[in-house]
Amino acid sequence: MKLIQTHIPGFPRIGAARELKFALERFWRGELNESALQETASKLRAQHWKTQREHGLDFVTVGDFALYDHVANHIQLFGCEPARFGFDGTESPLARYFAMARGDGAHETCGCGQNGAALEMTKWFDTNYHYLVPEFSGATEFSLHSEPLLAQVAEARAAGHPVKVVLLGPLTFLWLGKERAAAGAADARLELLERLLPLYSKLLVQLRAAGAEWVQLDEPILGLDLPNAWRNAFEPAYWLLNQSGAQLLLATYFSPLEENVSLACRLPVAGLHVDAVRAASELTSVADWLPAHKVLSVGIIDGRNIWRSDLDAALAALMPVLAKRSGPVWLSTSCSLLHVPYSLAAEPALDEGLRSWLAFAEEKLGELALLKTALSADERVSGQAARGFAAARSALASRRASPRVHNAAIQARVAALDGAVQADRRASPFAERQRQQQARLKLPAFPTTTIGSFPQTAQIRAARAAFKRGELDAPAYQQAMRAEIEHAIRQQEELGLDVLVHGEAERNDMVEYFGEQLDGFAFTANGWVQSYGSRCVKPPIIYGDVQRPQAMTVGWAEYAQGLTGKPVKGMLTGPVTILQWSFVRDDQPRADTALQIAAAIRDEVRDLEQAGIAVIQIDEPALREGLPLRRSRWDAYLAWATKAFRISAAVAGDATQIHTHMCYAEFNDILPAIAALDADVITIESSRSAMELLGGFASFRYPNEIGPGVYDIHSPRVPGSDEMVELLRKAAKVVPPAQLWVNPDCGLKTRAWPETTAALQNMISAARQLRKEL
Ligand code: GLN
Ligand code: ZN
Repeated sequence: MKLIQTHIPGFPRIGAARELKFALERFWRGELNESALQETASKLRAQHWKTQREHGLDFVTVGDFALYDHVANHIQLFGCEPARFGFDGTESPLARYFAMARGDGAHETCGCGQNGAALEMTKWFDTNYHYLVPEFSGATEFSLHSEPLLAQVAEARAAGHPVKVVLLGPLTFLWLGKERAAAGAADARLELLERLLPLYSKLLVQLRAAGAEWVQLDEPILGLDLPNAWRNAFEPAYWLLNQSGAQLLLATYFSPLEENVSLACRLPVAGLHVDAVRAASELTSVADWLPAHKVLSVGIIDGRNIWRSDLDAALAALMPVLAKRSGPVWLSTSCSLLHVPYSLAAEPALDEGLRSWLAFAEEKLGELALLKTALSADERVSGQAARGFAAARSALASRRASPRVHNAAIQARVAALDGAVQADRRASPFAERQRQQQARLKLPAFPTTTIGSFPQTAQIRAARAAFKRGELDAPAYQQAMRAEIEHAIRQQEELGLDVLVHGEAERNDMVEYFGEQLDGFAFTANGWVQSYGSRCVKPPIIYGDVQRPQAMTVGWAEYAQGLTGKPVKGMLTGPVTILQWSFVRDDQPRADTALQIAAAIRDEVRDLEQAGIAVIQIDEPALREGLPLRRSRWDAYLAWATKAFRISAAVAGDATQIHTHMCYAEFNDILPAIAALDADVITIESSRSAMELLGGFASFRYPNEIGPGVYDIHSPRVPGSDEMVELLRKAAKVVPPAQLWVNPDCGLKTRAWPETTAALQNMISAARQLRKEL
């Protein structure tokens, strides 16, 4: 039998009890000094390494920790902090780090010409983690600042751990960045490679001297559709890096390598890590192609989801690989565990059944240990492994057979909806619906509305918290929320908005609110996952067939509508967004789960309509982020995603107006899919791009009505009416005015009331101005 080693590409860093989050927030409030913050960080690292070693990992991973973001760490490591911040060398590295992460307020108003706005944040591949985007230009120079990383290697070594350091590979690091200067092709980033590589080489030499046995270089971009220039850059770059003498493990994850399999296999490195969950079908070809002397690290345990593994299936997948490989095989999670919560130990309230089906980060380390033991020849330990396998097997069997998971009636209904020709089609084409809706709603030209939420005041949050703690009973809570709704309605009437909203006071989160009321969803107490910096999210777990036992929003909507003669929008979250922001079942295709959620939302649409609600909004801000990393898979995704939306909406009669909303995104390449939703009205975030987004809709000849956001809700600034008039005139040049709505960019829940009413007042004046100009 062969010696199997285990490692992981990375571990969560926020802390089992979110220690890092709380330390950061205290530090930013000035309640904690830098050395206390660093002390917390170093304790967390020590704890995480200890946990890894206790589970028998052969190396601890060093370099996955970051106070805010690992990409930002690389910006400092390679000395490429953007010049626009105007750092003059007097600031501490930590002060510069947080200035990049959070913005440097000092320069916002001083007129010195510096621009201290925070680095842009964007999604890390197809995860819900957000990284800080490096800014590169032709003038970017690099310099090496490896002391903090080397100190962490020393920390781990001092604790007696064998060390594998993780770094972003040079090509992925450059790819993730953007050009500040708009001019120039995307490939200009690639021209920086030559400047960057010598510093990587130098760093690798230093790491080796510091006692790092391995250096893992993450190049997940090998799973993307890469331009040829980028693909071609890999071989010479790695040839150079390999000269450092460090043992390099090239790590790929999240997506199949496809045309890059042979490239990844032949790069001059000592080992290759592959994602055997997302790219399971490639494992055999990698095992064949990878030269015999290289380490093959098999990411066999899912790092992106929270399900306990099918260990028998894992063994079955590993056996042929082991048989093929004469060189070393390592076992690992598919990717960094950054994307899953810490430990089930923090979930005492989860029922035993559900709990036995799950594995968070720590439990996944246990699974690696079991696989390692099972594959080792040592008879003494195999009895223990047998017990571990038996426990996993029986948990899986109970999950497969559980009536909590499988509901034949739901499956039959969804299959029927999926198969029915009419289920995802409105009764009439848009033009006819529009006519009926105009007759019913009698809205003016340039109708005004908002996106749904109104300020979530401290008072609202306090009431909800008291209700959750049991200090406020249901009638009292309902009373408090009704008062908020009434307040919101009166404000909107006074302002003169045309289509009102109830304000979403009763919702703490647009997915959690629905998940809590749907069958098939579970919630953890502490299942936090880092979203960015100190921000964490606690995604719901969709474990079973989804249905709606009873109406979820109708009571609130009816109450709100009863207060006013103006139409009040019913407000729902769409199936794709609910899916995208949850941990999703791995025992059926995502598409199937999406359709089940769609059926539940459809029930809610029908009930709202029956309650007399004339306008219903189904938010889908996550439609675009669900796109697969490979373009070849886009069509299949968009087909089921848009169908799920239509199944939710199409139950509405012609005279009911369906809205949808999407936040800022690159819409241009998915416009056909957006049109395929066939919503009567779409509101989009567009003011930040000065209506440029709308140009795409216009040249695509988007057929239905559009509300391009006319002001940015992310800042308390109250824009003047004239600014919004300008934006609307711009919009009316590209989109027929009869198709245009007037609304803010997104929901107003993070704003306070005074700025909200002031801004809406100006927005309504702007709409009135445009009506005059018709
Ligand atoms: N209706 C939601 C709100 O207004 C939409 C939020 C979103 O787009 N993310 O808060
Ligand atoms: Zn939005």
